This record gives sequence, C-alpha cells and structure tokens, in this order.
Amino acid sequence: MKFRNTLTALGLCGAVLLAGCETLSPDTMMQSGMLAAQSYMLSDADVKQVANQTCSQMDGQATIAGPDSRYGKRLRQIADNLGHTIAGTPVNYKVYLNEEPNAWAMANGCVRVYSGLMDLMTDNELEGVVGHELGHVALGHTRKAMQTAYATAAARGAIAATGNTTAVALSRSQIGDLAEELINAQFSQRQETEADNFSFDLLSQRGLNPEGLVTGFEKLARLNGGQSSLFSSHPGSAERAENIRSRIERNP
Ligand SMILES: [Zn+2]
Repeated sequence: MKFRNTLTALGLCGAVLLAGCETLSPDTMMQSGMLAAQSYMLSDADVKQVANQTCSQMDGQATIAGPDSRYGKRLRQIADNLGHTIAGTPVNYKVYLNEEPNAWAMANGCVRVYSGLMDLMTDNELEGVVGHELGHVALGHTRKAMQTAYATAAARGAIAATGNTTAVALSRSQIGDLAEELINAQFSQRQETEADNFSFDLLSQRGLNPEGLVTGFEKLARLNGGQSSLFSSHPGSAERAENIRSRIERNP
C-alpha cells in the first residue's frame, strides 16, 4: 500500500505495476506482458528467493524498531493476535521507523509496517489493515505482483532474464528497482475486495473485532485527500466499506 496521486491509472492498469504503466503505452504493455508471460515467468520458488533478497535489501536501508521498543512490542502483540503463519508461509513482521503511513507484504511472508501508520491507528485497526496485507499474500496477489514486476523489467531489458530461470541473480540496483515497484504495487479492485474479505474472515476466526478493518481504512481514505491505494475515493471504495459493514451486521 502506498499513497500516490496516480489512481487514475488504476482503471487502465489493473494489477500491473504503476511504474510500468507510467512508462509504457497500453499496447506496449500488453505486448511486454505477453512476452513476459511466455519467457520470464518466475516459479514460486524463484518468487520467494527474489522476495527474500528484496526484503533483506529493504531492511538494510530502513531503520528497524527494536523488538523491545514501543513499536516493536505493539507489532508483536498484533502479530500474536493475527498469527505467525499465513497459508503455510511463515510471516516475518517488522516495524520500519518511518513517518509515512504505509505497510506492505511480500510473497515470502515479509510484512513491514511503518511507524507512521502505527501512530495513526489503534491496534484493532492495524489488525484489520495487516490482515488485509496478509490476504494479498495468502491469495497469491503478491506472487503475481512479483512475477509481473520481474517480467516487465525483463521485457524492458532492465533484467537479463533467461527462459529457464532456475537461479535468479540480480544486482543491488535491480533489486532496488523491483522493491520500488512492489511497494508501490496497485492491486485490482477485485483483489482489494478479496483481501478485505480475507482480513474479515481472519479477524473473525482469531476472535478479533472486524470493526477495525472498516475504521482503519476509513482513516486512510481521509488522509491525503483520499489518495490511498488501500482505500481511496476511487469508485468502489464505498462498495468495499459497505461489503465489510454488511458482513459485520450479518455476523454480529
Ligand atoms: Zn490491498
């Protein structure tokens, strides 16, 4: 999730990464997407390997809150509440000391929550938002985003990919580019709704109040003129809120 003023690109680009959308025409994007699908598709194991590299490089550039810091303790409680494994993938939670209200997850179970988001939200709201990010992991959205980011970079020639990728060797700057694309990844409205529903179900199963899922995203929607990729003034946001509200009413 990331606040950007580029939501108008969403309708056109769907789940395709914004960086790609901004630099390629739809035709070129379609062509490169097709090429990519044929030649540069990362296997699930490759996705995890590239995500591991990307996440550890991001960690190296960030200031990470200590486990016994105020933020570290808060996130540990939230992690205990949500669980440490998602769809068979162990989840690794960390707080970045960064005032941006942001959080993201990668396909390897790397979940990073920024202190700026924690300052903004209650623990229950964070559970809702982190549950939504876990949904993107569990439902394969982050895997697809990684495959798309890699394939798009490969099609552009930014990464020298081979057809049979058994080991992915990337330079620091290539990983940096991928990280930038992944953290700014925009998911489709359908994927967002699926992740909302996943979070609702997870919170319900774990005995947590699903209300935080609604109020957390409402807070994000009010930020930055509603320009939040997680929950924005983009058409569909009202339906998303309504979806979760009606599920809460059906499951008091
Ligand atoms: Zn999302």
